[in-house]
Amino acid sequence: MPIRLLSSEVASQIAAGEVVERPASVVKELVENALDAGTKTVTVTIQEAGRRLIEIADDGSGIPAGELLLAVERHATSKLASAADLFRIGTLGFRGEALASIGSVSRLTITSRVKSAEAGARLRVEGGLASPLQAVGAPVGTTVRVEDLFYNVPARLKFLKQDMTERRAIDGLLTRYALAYPEVRFRLMDGASPTLQTSGDGDRRAILAALYGVDVARQMLEVVAEEESSTGSGQGFRLTGYTSPAALTRSNRKEITFFINGRWVQDSALSAALLQAYHTLLMVGRYPLAALFLELDPEEVDVNVHPAKAEVRFRSSERVFSFVQRAVRRALLAYSPVASMPSQNLWGGHQPPSPGGQSSAGLDWTIGHSEIPTVDRGPLTAQDDDPSSAAHGPRSSVYGQDPAPQSEIIHLPLMRLVGQIGATYLVAEGPDGLYLIDQHAAHERVLFEKLMLQHARKEIPSQTLLTPLAVTLPPASAKMLNEQLPVLEHFGFSVEPFGPNAFQVRAVPALFAGADPAAALRALVEDFEEDETPLQTEVEARIAARVCKRLAVKGGQALSPEEQRALLTDLEACDSPRTCPHGRPTMIHLSVDMLERQFGRRGAR
Ligand code: ADP
Ligand code: MG
Repeated sequence: MPIRLLSSEVASQIAAGEVVERPASVVKELVENALDAGTKTVTVTIQEAGRRLIEIADDGSGIPAGELLLAVERHATSKLASAADLFRIGTLGFRGEALASIGSVSRLTITSRVKSAEAGARLRVEGGLASPLQAVGAPVGTTVRVEDLFYNVPARLKFLKQDMTERRAIDGLLTRYALAYPEVRFRLMDGASPTLQTSGDGDRRAILAALYGVDVARQMLEVVAEEESSTGSGQGFRLTGYTSPAALTRSNRKEITFFINGRWVQDSALSAALLQAYHTLLMVGRYPLAALFLELDPEEVDVNVHPAKAEVRFRSSERVFSFVQRAVRRALLAYSPVASMPSQNLWGGHQPPSPGGQSSAGLDWTIGHSEIPTVDRGPLTAQDDDPSSAAHGPRSSVYGQDPAPQSEIIHLPLMRLVGQIGATYLVAEGPDGLYLIDQHAAHERVLFEKLMLQHARKEIPSQTLLTPLAVTLPPASAKMLNEQLPVLEHFGFSVEPFGPNAFQVRAVPALFAGADPAAALRALVEDFEEDETPLQTEVEARIAARVCKRLAVKGGQALSPEEQRALLTDLEACDSPRTCPHGRPTMIHLSVDMLERQFGRRGAR
């Protein structure tokens, strides 16, 4: 076939494919236009999951009649004047492509009126062809009607998912925008029935409830953090929003939402920063829920990377990620609740399980509090970045780069040891009830924090073995261990190669004196084999967690009263006493309140 230019119709359908993939992408573009126009209310109406109709009405600035025809031209925009503007974009749109794209793959009607005009104007576009303007009566603002989406692109139609899936995508999108713009009233009508409605009164937690259910919304932790700009001039970083406590998780990352300067983005590096903040607090394969809003100088972020603007690039990505990680970590550390038994599990299921999140997340225990936790720690100051201010007292965080002042860490109350049951659990009494403590998980946590603290201070005492111990490993593992010998040295291990695939352990961290050094070494090797995280700090924490797990006392091991008491005291001193380094709870709390209810002493539920 000879080379020839594509007809403009084909060309614009190809271009449209980049911007308009499914009904939800139409909704996104049109809602963003409404927000750019300064609207206070957005009403979205859909029929047949958006295939038949998507209508978006706003009360924003409107489009002057004389500009309507231009608005549906490709590369026509009022939001950008020069190429230099591309690097300081303050609006959601700027490519001037959405209306043109939508107009080329649907029957589009735009009705709009600006405040200064007597009447509104209406423009129809069908398959990219515009009909003459019409004068109509209309309120100030813009209504865009998109009918029969993809009617002229059957291939695209075939790719649409079931109505339920497309509807859910629209729902999820609008809820997230509602969350990002709590001052704007959002309404979604599916046919004649409203499916989402927000008040526009700025209350994000109420919208969160629409997204996740009341139960989950109540548990979400608030994140508020600021950091001044590195140069001291201009805008710094600001992160607000909500993130779930460590016990509230999902099996995938779908509930992790980030907005940057009011724009919804999918950025895997930002999610990674978030996950890092949960490091050692989550069970393997579990992910937090989060809706986080990052604001920074528009010059710090390039949004012109992706036609749908879902991906961005940061100028100083490392700084942004570490800011996000620290901000979230701080919110988490400041609030880590004790797991407490839901009464229906303990005493025979006569109470209905709570609706929403918790039970669907597959957890068999709930968070023991009912008030709404908020965390407002004020600005993160530059001094927080100074590693010399970190890791000095026994109370400083286990993460050298993440110092948390004493007041931020919620320690356990002082407890009185009652005893050990089943050679596995400690029973202790606190001011507010009874605690059942898993001795293995608790010991893991204790060892982990001690080790990481010593590590942060760069002084892990090691103990030389009387007789060096020889360990032989499979070739692949031996190679891995060889590469990591310097890391081991950091942790107070002294291990030397000793012939092919064999090693000699000469010293171990003093913390583990008395434990089986070969077991410790094997635990380390396993960790290297599983590890795909490139970050050194994280590798080290993982290694420490792994070793501590292996060397902690086991369930079924009888402890002397002195050992029990020592474990309890050590646990009380931990920064994150409520979970083991792998995220499982170390304890279950039976509160006085709950006991009284269970015994019918006080208004049983
Ligand atoms: P972009 O948003 O990238 O500028 P669009 O194709 O989405 O491109 O819109 C083209 C232009 O039409 C916008 O720049 C804006 O001036 C105008 N416009 C679109 N939708 C609205 C609206 N809801 N209210 C006011 N003006 C609008
Ligand atoms: Mg736009």
